[in-house]
Amino acid sequence: MAQHHNVIILGSGPAGSTAALYAARAELKPVVFEGIQPGGQLTITTEVENYPGFIEGITGPELVENFKQQAERFGAQYIADEITSADLSKRPFSFCGYNHEYTCDVLIIATGATARWLGIPSEQIFMGHGVSACATCDGFFFKEKHIIVVGGGDTAMEEATFLTKFGKTVTIVHRRAELRASRIMEEKAKKNPKIQWALNSVIDEILGESNPPHITGVRLKDTRDDSTREIPADGVFMAIGHIPNSKPFKGQLDMDENGYIITKPDSTYTSVPGVFACGDVQDHVYRQAVTAAGSGCMAAIDAERWLESQE
Ligand code: NDP
Repeated sequence: MAQHHNVIILGSGPAGSTAALYAARAELKPVVFEGIQPGGQLTITTEVENYPGFIEGITGPELVENFKQQAERFGAQYIADEITSADLSKRPFSFCGYNHEYTCDVLIIATGATARWLGIPSEQIFMGHGVSACATCDGFFFKEKHIIVVGGGDTAMEEATFLTKFGKTVTIVHRRAELRASRIMEEKAKKNPKIQWALNSVIDEILGESNPPHITGVRLKDTRDDSTREIPADGVFMAIGHIPNSKPFKGQLDMDENGYIITKPDSTYTSVPGVFACGDVQDHVYRQAVTAAGSGCMAAIDAERWLESQE
């Protein structure tokens, strides 16, 4: 027998937990699926200094725990499960999780996004042994080392600048000559004497040894003439964007070409009535904890009003 819940919220990051807080206070008895990474991307962030209300900052794990406890205080229930497939073609909506099957009247999708990887075999081999997608989590391990940051966006600039606190050198590898980053972030990185640049370059292979696994360098390929060169490196940080966690809904909800769920302007309504989306799974522009929380609040209010309109 499938478990039925009035409102199911998928994801327990700032968007999911804020939706849960508002839905619980509206007495909708929301059930939150924590997903594979309970708390979402904030749990791999050390210091959050730009979430309003915390003058001295707060750690990511503390902030998500606060979100959860605040939502639970009003009756939100958190379940340790993740959805593997969904059927949104009829109501109640139905899902398969790892532990059970579920149905619900209203669905709020707050499944977030996951870091993008290059997809080369050596990246997998050295994952956790010098390859990372989180400078704030792993930068500390590269004191006085040579660090590579891959990407030309704001994340790459931010992570490279942060990593100069630890590394002897930080080299930004970007596939074009022009950066995608905003001017202010670019300028900051360019002024930093520890940052070096490998533009028009991609990582062809990450080089290293297997016992114990560690990185010794990278082979770079020039994107203009395919020539290759090797440079020494101890750590490689990927900062090449994110992939929205929308796979179970592919073909069922309108999405853009990158898989971000499309919501109607100024709302969290998706293309299926009764299904709402908030946070990084529908926002590739701002991607901040505070904007995710704000859209989680919108999703709960939209869901409440939609339910009322159905009665
Ligand atoms: P972006 O999508 O903006 O940039 C990704 C970068 O990675 C691009 O330079 C892209 O190259 C490169 N890239 C993508 N795929 C590959 C690949 N397979 N191989 C090599 N390079 C690749 O992602 P970000 O995470 O940097 O930023 C996302 C959003 O978050 C942006 O809106 C950004 O402004 C925002 N942000 C804001 C911050 C702030 O204001 N403090 C901090 C961090 C992010 P190309 O340019 O050639 O496509």
